[in-house]
Amino acid sequence: MKIAVCPGSFDPVTNGHIDIIRRAAKLFDKVIVVVMFNYHKPTSYFTADERVELIKRSTKGIDNIEVDTYSGLLADYAAQKGACAVVKGLRAVSDFEYEFQQALTNKKLNPEMETIFVAADAANMYLSSSVVKQVCEFGGDISEFVPSEVCEDIIKRIKERK
Ligand code: ADP
Repeated sequence: MKIAVCPGSFDPVTNGHIDIIRRAAKLFDKVIVVVMFNYHKPTSYFTADERVELIKRSTKGIDNIEVDTYSGLLADYAAQKGACAVVKGLRAVSDFEYEFQQALTNKKLNPEMETIFVAADAANMYLSSSVVKQVCEFGGDISEFVPSEVCEDIIKRIKERK
């Protein structure tokens, strides 16, 4: 069975993430979406469990997906789960240098694991979790940026935090 991991902060999940997860699920037998968090840097808006819950609700129709959390090295996580690949979305050239550095480091740490880059959909090129938070904090409409199943909860949570 070919297993891939889709890692990220997902703080919160956006339509850009869901597009990459959906496409990864077509390429692999199983995809594990993993919310990476760091106890020492509690700067996120949503707790790891909240982020998992939002992703689960947004991916209900996709059967070959699991959602998990992890705090540690992605290379170790993938090895534990028997994953052969990491799938990442690439938006613009600006993503490339950081992602390439990560891919090379992961290759050193876990030579069995490949990093696969999926080109972002043109409609999501500008989209990030930070944009969602900024727009929402200032009262803008984020309904086109995040999955409809979780939009209201994301708005509520960001406004509570303000
Ligand atoms: P991180 O905080 O580690 O950058 P993110 O949660 O922002 O993680 O993103 C997780 C993954 O989703 C990354 O591979 C990122 O490139 C990809 N991604 C984020 N936003 C988009 C988007 N709008 N379109 C395509 N891929 C995206």
